[in-house]
Amino acid sequence: MRIKDIQLTENFKLSEFFVSGKTDFEFFSADYETPLFYLCKLLLQPIREHTKLPITITSGFRTYEENKKINGKPQSLHLSGYAADFICAGYSLESIFSIIKIYLKKYICELILHDDYIHIAVINPIKKEQYIADERSQK
Ligand SMILES: [Zn+2]
Repeated sequence: MRIKDIQLTENFKLSEFFVSGKTDFEFFSADYETPLFYLCKLLLQPIREHTKLPITITSGFRTYEENKKINGKPQSLHLSGYAADFICAGYSLESIFSIIKIYLKKYICELILHDDYIHIAVINPIKKEQYIADERSQK
């Protein structure tokens, strides 16, 4: 069953978090709407307003099956809708990473700078510890 797309915040729609092409809204339960909303409201939307450039979600919500296929961590917050990976064409990921650390730290559960994307997870009831790291292969 398809559910209707909704605007989560000014620049982010629910459908943007279903990027695998496989996960259709048929797997989507309204349980994930709230986590994705907080992810946008507290982190992605403020980042978007800072960069003034489109943020592209490269991996958003994942089913267990999809997560397994791409060797995602079994406890991945992508499974609950609290995490997303993104890029921002025209803006350095390193700069975005630094900006998030300075201004949005209190809303972060996970923030990882990878070579070609940033993984970000919003504060949530599942994982309490904060993890912030630069995991690029060359720093
Ligand atoms: Zn991720």
